[in-house]
Amino acid sequence: MKEKQKLEANEMNSGERKHRERRHRGNGKTAIVIVVIAVLAIVGIAFAASKSGAGKQSETEKNQRVAKEEQKNETTPAQESGISQESTTSGEDTQSGETSENETEVLQETTPAVEETTSTYPVAGQEPFVFEDTGETKLAYLTFDDGPSDNTDQILSILDQYGVKATFFMIGIGKDDEASLQRYKAIAEKGHGIALHSFTHDYGSIYASIENFAADVQQIHDWVLQTTGVDTRIYRFPGGSSNTVANIDIQQGIDYLTSIGYRYFDWNVSSGDATGKPITAEEITQNVLSGSADKTRAVILMHDTNAKGETVRALPAIIEGLQSMGFQIVPITDTTKPVQHVKASYMQ
Ligand SMILES: [Zn+2]
Repeated sequence: MKEKQKLEANEMNSGERKHRERRHRGNGKTAIVIVVIAVLAIVGIAFAASKSGAGKQSETEKNQRVAKEEQKNETTPAQESGISQESTTSGEDTQSGETSENETEVLQETTPAVEETTSTYPVAGQEPFVFEDTGETKLAYLTFDDGPSDNTDQILSILDQYGVKATFFMIGIGKDDEASLQRYKAIAEKGHGIALHSFTHDYGSIYASIENFAADVQQIHDWVLQTTGVDTRIYRFPGGSSNTVANIDIQQGIDYLTSIGYRYFDWNVSSGDATGKPITAEEITQNVLSGSADKTRAVILMHDTNAKGETVRALPAIIEGLQSMGFQIVPITDTTKPVQHVKASYMQ
């Protein structure tokens, strides 16, 4: 505005200038040229400024939109996999190295400006765990620990009879005879869940140190891969993650499993077939059905060992009972949301 007034003032003075022009011809002409150039320059600058201002504004809006969309996209996987931004509020002071790495990763994912970085969750270069759980159907997971055994064949034939799939958390020690090798194979070929439960199942050696634990995990992984052809990453701690026999801090074991891309499962329904006291098939059935009654996801602990004949006897009634309660019986897969007594960072 000031500029314009000045210009107008200049123009109004042009009459006066004409007088001067007569007196100082050369100087007057130069002055007019300068004024005209100045007017053109100022008008030009004003126009350019208003245009670039509008451009800048729409550019900013566009950037904001893109940033918003990126944020939306990048936060979705973390939310799906159950990673909470305010994780680790359990108060348990444990090996937090892994956890803080996870937190960093989540923070990076919600910051749109940061370019994709090398993932450290759960293993460098691997995708975060994603658990599919729509919650629409009641699901029951029959899980058999400690096998294979002389009872495996019968368990498999009952499962076949009902057309349902279970999950076998298997061990390795002393099971290199032909019959056992056939059982590992049969479990896999029939499409049941293949899972690991340590090689030796010897608490004293497995839990003596994290190095021992890691070595045992690798040993059972390789053994099951060799016998079934299945490269599984599903694990159950001998005694469960809440066991009181481990010499190591169980969180160390949990962090190790997470670091190598394994998920581990405990259970939320116990059949009671391994309490050490004699138990009947009827009692086992009763334990399973009453334990599952208030669940929409029932992970049922049973055992596949030579001594657990009553479990085999209970199996038909367990399957029928669960089905009549509205459960669909399914195997544990890579996308099954774990039940854990001591929770891994990706479950918090
Ligand atoms: Zn066991």
